[in-house]
Amino acid sequence: MEKRKIIEVKDLVKQYGDFTAVKGISFDVYEHEIFGLLGPNGAGKSTTLEIIETLRDKTSGTVIVDGYDLDKDPESIKKLIGVQLQSSGYYPGLNLTELIELFCGLYNQEVDPKELLASFNLEDKAKAKYKELSGGQKQRFSIATTLINKPKIIFLDEPTTGLDPQARRNLWDLIQEVRAKGTTVVITTHYMDEAEFLCDRCAIVDSGRIIALESPDTLIDQLVAGGFERKKEVKKANLEDVFIHMTGKGLRED
Ligand code: ADP
Ligand code: MG
Repeated sequence: MEKRKIIEVKDLVKQYGDFTAVKGISFDVYEHEIFGLLGPNGAGKSTTLEIIETLRDKTSGTVIVDGYDLDKDPESIKKLIGVQLQSSGYYPGLNLTELIELFCGLYNQEVDPKELLASFNLEDKAKAKYKELSGGQKQRFSIATTLINKPKIIFLDEPTTGLDPQARRNLWDLIQEVRAKGTTVVITTHYMDEAEFLCDRCAIVDSGRIIALESPDTLIDQLVAGGFERKKEVKKANLEDVFIHMTGKGLRED
């Protein structure tokens, strides 16, 4: 089956004054895939995402989302995407149920807050304020809210940064569930294990350029085919496996 391109980015450039943060990148995202932008801090990942999300102006290049040209029809793009808010975006006086109800009103959608919270393991937090949540709970809530307008694509900018291994794995499962229900996911991360686990394909971004774009498997095979070997003998487990084995997979924050 021919894969359908749901995002097409061509020759995208972003300058901040004299500094060029994104230097002419091109990539496509296929419908229903988990697509990763990987790169060190300052690579231009957030800038790229925010341009596609219509939140930041580009300097040049073209962006097409589900057939809509960013230059001509940003409003149509806004309607079909889900964007994670920074914490400052949540009214401090409202609890999680009330925040979901608020978003439902804004998007003119009917969503049962209880059901949405339950699908993100937040049923016990229905009456809690956002600021009272742990790091993992905050991330789960912000991903839940991206789904309220039933978007075709969600954008997650470093959703697991700062989380403990249990919360990170839990979020990976939730992101896979979101995709399994038919949503395309674009995610940024600087955790390579995360990209290897989650992404169908990933673009490695360095100093504003894409230096590789393949599936994680293919990237690894290409490196090995080039004669690369790890210095240390590869063991059947790593320290994170030890940690998860000893402390369990259960979430700790709750
Ligand atoms: P990443 O998300 O990969 O860490 P960013 O897209 O946030 O990278 O930033 C890319 C580069 O652009 C960085 O060098 C950053 O300092 C710079 N930058 C980001 N936002 C601005 C801004 N509003 N004004 C000036 N420079 C910026
Ligand atoms: Mg960033």
